[in-house]
Amino acid sequence: MTHQSSVSDPRSEFALAIVRQLRSAGFQALWAGGCVRDQALGIVPKDYDVATDATPAQVIQLFGERRTVPIGASFGVVLVTGTSRRQGQVEVATFRSDGAYVDGRHPQSVRYCSAREDALRRDFTINGMFFDPIAGTVIDYVEGLEDLKRKTLRAIGDPLARFSEDKLRMLRAVRFATTFQFHMDESTADAIRLLSHQITQVSTERILQELKRMLAHPARHLAFTMLHNTGLLPEILPELYSGPHSIISEIPVLQSALHKLESVRFEPALAILLQHLTHHDSSSTATAVQPVRDLCRRLKMANEETDAVCWILDSLNQMDHLASKPLHFLKPLLAHRNAAELLAASSALAAARGQPADDAEFAWHYLSRHSQSELSPEPLINGSDVMALGIPQGPQIRNLLTIVRNAQLDEQIQNRDAALALLRSLATP
Ligand code: ATP
Ligand code: MG
Repeated sequence: MTHQSSVSDPRSEFALAIVRQLRSAGFQALWAGGCVRDQALGIVPKDYDVATDATPAQVIQLFGERRTVPIGASFGVVLVTGTSRRQGQVEVATFRSDGAYVDGRHPQSVRYCSAREDALRRDFTINGMFFDPIAGTVIDYVEGLEDLKRKTLRAIGDPLARFSEDKLRMLRAVRFATTFQFHMDESTADAIRLLSHQITQVSTERILQELKRMLAHPARHLAFTMLHNTGLLPEILPELYSGPHSIISEIPVLQSALHKLESVRFEPALAILLQHLTHHDSSSTATAVQPVRDLCRRLKMANEETDAVCWILDSLNQMDHLASKPLHFLKPLLAHRNAAELLAASSALAAARGQPADDAEFAWHYLSRHSQSELSPEPLINGSDVMALGIPQGPQIRNLLTIVRNAQLDEQIQNRDAALALLRSLATP
């Protein structure tokens, strides 16, 4: 393996330049961790990390204060920024070994050390390798290359000890195993099953971050299954397992729906998982999705994400017999910014349940043949047109506007004159 494959990438060029500069100043410098793994797998790395024996102060001195940000100076990490956006940023981290872990997540202290020791503090063998981008060689103290070949995810060292130190690694293990479709080493998996109940020691933010990445990935069905089987899912989403809405009897259907889901976003996947929590018989849509809204809030999801999940669930419940519903119902549904996610979830659920996906197919077809301006045309009239007829301020204005709007969407009126004529006929008793 050489770095030839990625020479044209300005980010890898920048990461190479940083290594050269550190070496010229007499330091050791290597690419480390995820970028080495990704490159060996033939994946373009998301970002490049450099590991060095230079201390953070030496790194800052070498690259200058203007181009460096000490993001985790106490852990020995300095961000070096490129001269152009295309070069991105590279995290330069001093070889370190972690001291005792305090809160199930963070080491109390770090000690600068050799590259070999730095490899041993990393989480999984496939994440524990270095790459010398000048010589084009992998430096592997942890048999990471072997495990890459065997497609095995394995904790470095004693899995129980490693997961006890930092519980977040349990979620990372599931993410790496499923997104790469690797087999999980038995003792690594055993340790997760044993310690899964401790995942709640990890901050909600980090749990959500991992969950989102897993649910946004095409291998989301594998992640769901592994999270369930390891006991992690009942810890991070206990709502799914409690009360009359337990998903236990629905696991295969959910797996299948997630497998069939075609979307790059996590929201429709989460909606599929949470569908059980909605009250189908509820009269108001707000109360129907309230348990989901509560769960999203507990997970500290962004409002926009929560709204997307709730809207998808709310709309899924209204998709039955879509073809026979009026256009003034159909068009706003399909004009919504999350319509594609809704239809993806609807198709996936229908396929998983072995039901015909008629409603979703009809909607896809309609969506593909109508532009946004056809689905959501400019209104033909507004409130002042209604008031000009002497209608006083109040709910009647809104009601009249809605009737005219619906007639427009239903294609019963085509222009402003027709809209005003309809309005006059409605307003005069
Ligand atoms: P990706 O960025 O695609 O999620 P990555 O492996 O690059 O994967 P990062 O979170 O960017 O993951 O971390 C970079 C490297 O730091 C990892 O490859 C691993 O060597 C090490 N690392 C990250 N998090 C941990 C952790 N919780 N415990 C031990 N080592 C870790
Ligand atoms: Mg990374």
